[in-house]
Amino acid sequence: LNKPLALSQSIKMWEQWFQSLDEKPYRAKQVIKWMYVDFVFDPSQFLNIKAPLRLKLAESFDWTLPSLDSALKSSDESEKFLFKTIDGQFFECVLMPFSNRVTLCVSSQVGCKLGCRFCQTGKMGFTRHLSLGEILFQAAYASNHLRTQNTERKLTNIVFMGMGEPLDNYDAVVESCKHFIDKNFFNLSHNKVTISTSGLIPQIEQLGRDLPIVPLAISLHSADNELRSQMMPINKKYPLPELRKTLLNYPIQNRHGITFEYIMIKNKNDSVEHAKKLVNFLKGIKAKVNLIPMNTHPGIEMEASEEVKLKDFQKYLSTRGYPAPIRYSRGQDVSAACGQLASKKKDELDFTPRSVARLRKSAV
Ligand code: SF4
Repeated sequence: LNKPLALSQSIKMWEQWFQSLDEKPYRAKQVIKWMYVDFVFDPSQFLNIKAPLRLKLAESFDWTLPSLDSALKSSDESEKFLFKTIDGQFFECVLMPFSNRVTLCVSSQVGCKLGCRFCQTGKMGFTRHLSLGEILFQAAYASNHLRTQNTERKLTNIVFMGMGEPLDNYDAVVESCKHFIDKNFFNLSHNKVTISTSGLIPQIEQLGRDLPIVPLAISLHSADNELRSQMMPINKKYPLPELRKTLLNYPIQNRHGITFEYIMIKNKNDSVEHAKKLVNFLKGIKAKVNLIPMNTHPGIEMEASEEVKLKDFQKYLSTRGYPAPIRYSRGQDVSAACGQLASKKKDELDFTPRSVARLRKSAV
């Protein structure tokens, strides 16, 4: 009989399991702390739990972890980790040290359903959601990696900008954020955990009720409804006017407001006309815009905007009260943009005529 995976258990499930053995529910927190804070996944080492219970834990659950398939370090110090799950799926995270923070970009799904045209993950199609444990595991692995590097540096920020649409895997993502900001577990500041979405309106509204203290980022990329629908098919379902209405009502609880991600693509969305549309879209919303020059990959027919266009766009926004830092992609030499490594791996593993046909020309 297959044992349940320890990594797939939520805190509630652990509590119920301990209670079924007449044990106190606080044991659940002890187990979670061992796993994700101390990075110990061998119950025989859970020393604040008595021996017979440790044995029971070892016998009752499957403690297999995702295995590290590859780790690549960029010349800019970013590190990318590609993991393989027990069922043979690949997912990735990227650790990015900056002078004042260490950010981990985590994945929430294997692949993605939304098929944004500029995105490598979108090309892969959707395989499955990552479990709560698989999301927490990325942060636990990265924290442990930092500990073993003879550095004082610690993980300070988490962004859900890896593979997948986080709000499509709502429960696991929200639950993982609660663990990230919980003092007993990762103890990150709630301002330092960001959920980035392509604009799933019902889930954004739900997030505003469930966890508004966690900053929200919107992958916008165009404030022209027609162009955005071309670039991001989800815009047909949740068009810009409706998204704007939702964001105007969003209960923002941090001083920066909502962050908008805007990939600058040459001759596509980078004119001053587009900047004007963006300012109109943002009217009344407390916002910051991250301008991200397009990260070109093989097979892509989109290029980064020219420097002068970037600067003009930035100036248009900032003179109208919207901070618009230019964010150059990190780790380009190690395929650090979302989904690049996992999709390479998938193509390697799955190089059938069907998968070749799936490589849309316009994608990425
Ligand atoms: S950009 Fe995000 S939402 Fe769009 S396809 Fe890629 S992973 Fe999915």
